[in-house]
Amino acid sequence: MTNKKDYLIIGAGLSGISMGIHLVKSGNKVTLIDSGENFSSSVAAGQINPLVFRRMTKSWRVDDYLPYAEEFYTELSVDSTLPIYFPIPIRRMFSSAHEKVMWLEKQNRDGFSQYMNEITDEDDLFDLAQNDFGSARIKKSSYVHAINFLKAGKIWLTEKGTIIQEKVSYTDIDPTKSSYKGIIYDNILFCEGSENTNNPWFNKFIVEHTKGEVLTLHSENINEFEALNRKCFLLPIGDKTFRLGATYVWNTPERDITEEAKIDLLDKMQLLSKKPFEVIDQQVGIRPTTPDRRPIIGAHPEFEKLLIFNGLGTKGYLMAPLLAKEFVDYLEGKGELDKEVRLERFKNKVNN
Ligand SMILES: Cc1cc2nc3c(=O)[nH]c(=O)nc-3n(C[C@H](O)[C@H](O)[C@H](O)COP(=O)(O)OP(=O)(O)OC[C@H]3O[C@@H](n4cnc5c(N)ncnc54)[C@H](O)[C@@H]3O)c2cc1C
Repeated sequence: MTNKKDYLIIGAGLSGISMGIHLVKSGNKVTLIDSGENFSSSVAAGQINPLVFRRMTKSWRVDDYLPYAEEFYTELSVDSTLPIYFPIPIRRMFSSAHEKVMWLEKQNRDGFSQYMNEITDEDDLFDLAQNDFGSARIKKSSYVHAINFLKAGKIWLTEKGTIIQEKVSYTDIDPTKSSYKGIIYDNILFCEGSENTNNPWFNKFIVEHTKGEVLTLHSENINEFEALNRKCFLLPIGDKTFRLGATYVWNTPERDITEEAKIDLLDKMQLLSKKPFEVIDQQVGIRPTTPDRRPIIGAHPEFEKLLIFNGLGTKGYLMAPLLAKEFVDYLEGKGELDKEVRLERFKNKVNN
């Protein structure tokens, strides 16, 4: 293939793996380097929720992202024979009467009805969680088994590219030559998540740290048919095991597991179930987010061979597959990048 390029990707989380797979599928050569210490993708519950409850709107570009994500994870699951993509309804326990009114206004509207079930008497009477204002069920929600996804992605890329486990030192990169340890690549793509803070070329483009903690629970009694949501989520992941999360602490350098987060989550859990359970694990991660809650994608304005794909935030598992495809198409001159994700929106930062 004539347009085949040699890419070095730094970071094998959701971003790096999604980009790596799409670059290889498009005929490029990929070397992926990862330090082996993942701070977000592996901790994530991987939930895909087409709605944003606060204003009862759809997730940004969900009509584009969702069908592509479904296809991408399903294909990787078939290739790897690892279970990755799990459709599961989410039941929203309304937090106010107003929220229910917003749902009723939208549930039959074009563009919303494919994600919202009509509220029934059963939803109003649902009594497995604290039901102060009624409840409703979301259609087309799901979760990605994060650990299986990362494993399957790495196996796929080992077979079709190269994966190296090491921590990249920025002093080994020459941004003008686009080389790492003296080896020249057509492009170096940074997919470092929250570690972007240390990157000398891209740290002026804002990636914020949003710390999150999640608990893993075991219960013989909690309902496993649907995920529940009010103030937090309770997601059944099989074998009578559940993820309960997540906390949000914006702009913090901390990465420690805290008793405070556990108490907070267990307190919120009271709204979702009063059945007995035990806490079997607690994890912490750092979501790479941006001030305008849109990813950061593009080429460095001065060193054009250095690229970034970052800032996936709270909805990473929904957006990453199609954004990776769109970035690869853009790099190959086959399409435009969505203007909301372009790095140029932070361009004035680089000269400050
Ligand atoms: C508690 C929590 C819950 C979440 N729940 C959800 C959810 O339900 N649904 C959802 O869609 N999203 C969720 N997210 C968000 C999701 O995890 C992120 O959007 C996404 O995983 C970010 O992926 P990433 O690849 O950009 O970053 P990361 O996963 O952080 O990956 C970056 C990788 O780069 C590597 N790296 C960095 N620097 C170097 C270096 N110098 N050398 C070598 N390797 C390097 C790191 O080791 C790491 O593996 C959650 C996040 C958290 C923390």
